[in-house]
Amino acid sequence: MSSVPELFGKNVFDDRVMKARLSADVYQSLRKTIDEGAELEKGVADVVAEAMKDWAVQQGATHFTHWFQPLTGLSAEKHDSFISPSPDGGVIMEFSGKELIKGEPDASSFPSGGLRATFEARGYTAWDPTSYAFIKGKTLCIPTAFCAYGSEALDKKTPLLRSMEALNKQALRILRLFGNDRAKAVRSSVGPEQEYFLIPKALFDRRPDLRYTGRTLFGAKPPKGQEMDDHYFGAIKPQVASFMEELNEELWKLGIMAKTEHNEVAPSQHELAPIYTTTNAATDQNQITMELMQKIAAKHGLACLLHEKPFAGVNGSGKHNNWSIATDYGQNLLSPGDTPYENAQFLLFLCAVIKAVDDYQDLLRLSVATAGNDHRLGANEAPPAVVSMFLGDELNAVLEAIETDTPYQGAEKMQMKLGVHVLPKFSRDTTDRNRTSPFAFTGNKFEFRMLGSSNSIACANMMLNSSVAESLRIYADRLEGADDFETALHEMIQKTIKDHKKIIFNGNGYDDSWIKEATEERGLLNYRTTPDCMPHLLDEKNVKMLTGLGVFSEAELQSRCEIMLDNYCKTVVIEANTMLDMAKTQIAPAVERYAADLARNAGAKKAIAADLACGYETKIIARLSALTDSILEKTEELEKALIELDSAADIIDESIRIRDTVLSKMCELRLPCDEAETITAKSYWPFPTYGDLLFGV
Ligand code: ADP
Ligand code: MG
Repeated sequence: MSSVPELFGKNVFDDRVMKARLSADVYQSLRKTIDEGAELEKGVADVVAEAMKDWAVQQGATHFTHWFQPLTGLSAEKHDSFISPSPDGGVIMEFSGKELIKGEPDASSFPSGGLRATFEARGYTAWDPTSYAFIKGKTLCIPTAFCAYGSEALDKKTPLLRSMEALNKQALRILRLFGNDRAKAVRSSVGPEQEYFLIPKALFDRRPDLRYTGRTLFGAKPPKGQEMDDHYFGAIKPQVASFMEELNEELWKLGIMAKTEHNEVAPSQHELAPIYTTTNAATDQNQITMELMQKIAAKHGLACLLHEKPFAGVNGSGKHNNWSIATDYGQNLLSPGDTPYENAQFLLFLCAVIKAVDDYQDLLRLSVATAGNDHRLGANEAPPAVVSMFLGDELNAVLEAIETDTPYQGAEKMQMKLGVHVLPKFSRDTTDRNRTSPFAFTGNKFEFRMLGSSNSIACANMMLNSSVAESLRIYADRLEGADDFETALHEMIQKTIKDHKKIIFNGNGYDDSWIKEATEERGLLNYRTTPDCMPHLLDEKNVKMLTGLGVFSEAELQSRCEIMLDNYCKTVVIEANTMLDMAKTQIAPAVERYAADLARNAGAKKAIAADLACGYETKIIARLSALTDSILEKTEELEKALIELDSAADIIDESIRIRDTVLSKMCELRLPCDEAETITAKSYWPFPTYGDLLFGV
């Protein structure tokens, strides 16, 4: 292996390559587009395309693709060759600015939630110069946004970029009010911590449920689970270590700074954290990371499970979204400053987040809602489905002092009149380690912990950026019109704390009493499932905010709600069909085979000695027979529930029926199957067991 600095970013058309390969003028112009969102100057695209192609061809690339993130949750690409015929009958490698800027994949194979019916069948991809192009295999991948011809977004990147622009605009207004003329742009940054499982590929291949749905739909509890916590502290196994080594190397080549890696709570569970970067680049990088994990795992004889809940009764996987906002020159606006004046600005941004999380609890909740994540949120391992915020003791004390106009009981006792001259200096609290809050302040960033491991981080961040932009917009409107800035600032911060402190909770989020307090006393929302929360995307206040900031059009919101619910329904229906298939064609026949062999044994024994009781065989056969009867009954009920979906009035109705009947029938079918597993001889059981899967590496 070459040295890390040598490898790092080798496969990325990043700033270093641009600087080296573009003229100073073109480079400056492109940087202006990247850093400040300026429109791409004419002619620049052609020059960049040429340089990009030359670089890519030198790295061995033969094809290019517009790489994008449709609403299916995966990433998509359509490869085109650089090759063009040359007049002399040979070929030349060509790539124009036009091809760089715009592509036309066949949009009809991606979900549009009705948008294409009303607009046009075609869609196009548009280059996102703010995320670097990269090489994967022999293909130059160009990160792009994907839109319908009416320019309605059909992907996750477009609204994410719009939300970043909204945040940029409103945050700059605030900074100007604090006399900051230096900042040219404000961007949000994210470092996503990715959890995943690694199990032996050969065993994965023998489980139809894992292959079709990513999670086990059957499986009795193994004798040993995660109760010993020995995996968390244990050494990383050699097979896993070599997987991690290759993964890191490939990520480094793509300029992704994979930094920490360790085992997680559950057996076979691991985590990877990259160093944070600008939100849209972080989003692209996380998609690439998930893709590479699966590809590289296979090379090491492993299967990488990204599902939120691959194993019942074992901790699931999430993705912690570490989020902050900073200026183009690197000032973190969520970091308490060194001077009282900076602290006042920090408090204003903090309040903007508090207000945003409270006002748009529903949007944050639904941004992470999928059939897979429904198994996690609210179970005893992930944050609850109720959104709340953790700030830590010190900040809490500061806010309380401001709210009540009483002295702050911090390092020095001081009156908390938020005239910027008397605000005390306080620094980041490094002691807090609350692990149960869905949204925790961790000193200079917020950690949004509700994301599922397979979620694209785009959705959560577009909602986060937008709702904070909305708070800042309201603040800026008020402050720009104020006669006395300091008084207005103080009043506004005080009012935010009073109005929104109900969202702040510093206790144990896993406690049942919290859910009671949150919903009954504080009036916080508790949307437990995807069908509960998703329709609220179209609530008037949400549509007003998101269209007002230009992040979504109303038609786009409608289409998204439809697509997300449709994804939910399809996911569960595939799971139900997989269960039926496994139960009917493998589990029941295996149990029958075992029972038949037991019966044959009993018969043989009786032939030797007619008075033998054969109590063992008789008892087990009776139990197995009762279980196969129950399996038959439950498969029939599940089939009926699936057929009844045909009469659903609309997608919301269908999703509710799925939640209430299909999912519960699936649980009922699982019970006799899992019990049968515990009394059927292992050599008859058609699938690797939980014990095999979890302790197989
Ligand atoms: P913790 O142990 O508190 O979770 P880490 O230092 O391990 O914190 O960081 C976790 C993730 O948060 C990493 O991906 C890291 O790059 C990211 N991160 C750190 N600082 C910031 C920041 N200012 N903005 C966004 N993400 C950040
Ligand atoms: Mg963390």
